[in-house]
Amino acid sequence: MSKLKAVFQEEIEKLYLAQLEEWPEFAEAVRGLAQLQYRRVRVDRRTVLLQFNPRRIANALAPAAPEEVAARRCFLCTENRPAAQRGLRFESRWLVVCNPFPLLERHLVVLAREHTPQTLHSGTLRAMAEFTLQTGYPTLYNGPRSGASAPDHLHFQALPPGRLPLERQVPGRPAGSDNGIFFDQRLPRRVFLAAGDPGSLEEFFLRLLEAWNQAEGRPPEAEPDLNLVILPPGTGSAPLLAAVHPRARHRPSAYYARGEARLVISPGAADMAGLVIVPRREDFARLNGLLMRRIFREVSTGSGPFGELAATLENLKK
Ligand SMILES: [Zn+2]
Repeated sequence: MSKLKAVFQEEIEKLYLAQLEEWPEFAEAVRGLAQLQYRRVRVDRRTVLLQFNPRRIANALAPAAPEEVAARRCFLCTENRPAAQRGLRFESRWLVVCNPFPLLERHLVVLAREHTPQTLHSGTLRAMAEFTLQTGYPTLYNGPRSGASAPDHLHFQALPPGRLPLERQVPGRPAGSDNGIFFDQRLPRRVFLAAGDPGSLEEFFLRLLEAWNQAEGRPPEAEPDLNLVILPPGTGSAPLLAAVHPRARHRPSAYYARGEARLVISPGAADMAGLVIVPRREDFARLNGLLMRRIFREVSTGSGPFGELAATLENLKK
């Protein structure tokens, strides 16, 4: 490890420990993590980890419609963030902070210092990959219509390594494939991109985006509905991997159901990566592999469009 990396990792650890001391609400939220309950279910022969986490209810019920988002104060802008929350600079553009509603210990949010919309056409993926390289933490991005709680303020998240089922679910690159792109049709459907460094991973992704937009008749500057996870070196065979989860919709039909049929599950990148957050006890008791499969089937892009996307991207060269 380079000295610079070690210093950055140390600074993050210092920030986390200091915030536990000086920010009582955060310390309480972190203490609460020890009480969380977990349960494993299987979807398409893979493990999905359910986390019963009542503190995440506000997040799961967060407004998603643009007019509702516009009507509230941006909670990632400095003036509206908790007074006790401190930040650590990352590059010139970003600030690393501790998530006040963590899924896990050391759950970080990396936010743009200026109020600017959530988009991947903005150097976001390169910064995520750079952060992953420097810390070893997987980074997660929710598209503005795919689970981002602040679609109006650019940000991504980072979680400590080894906690996302996705990290153990990277398929081997198909034999004879040398273009660094491969697909997993199982639910939730994933496109994997491999590259050697953050700059080429971003360049590769932007070419994928261009081909994808073109194939589906969107303008070049559009961003399809997706969640993205960057995996650290050593996951699978590639130096850096991006797992793209193309989305059909943000929330499953059960989210809008009434009475007992309702399931308050609002999937974002962590959920698509196999760590599914369940804020209500009754849902945690009821969820099983079949229900979870149905949710993934509804929110993932369909097998038809996914197959077409795979055919379009198959020839994309690194
Ligand atoms: Zn803002």
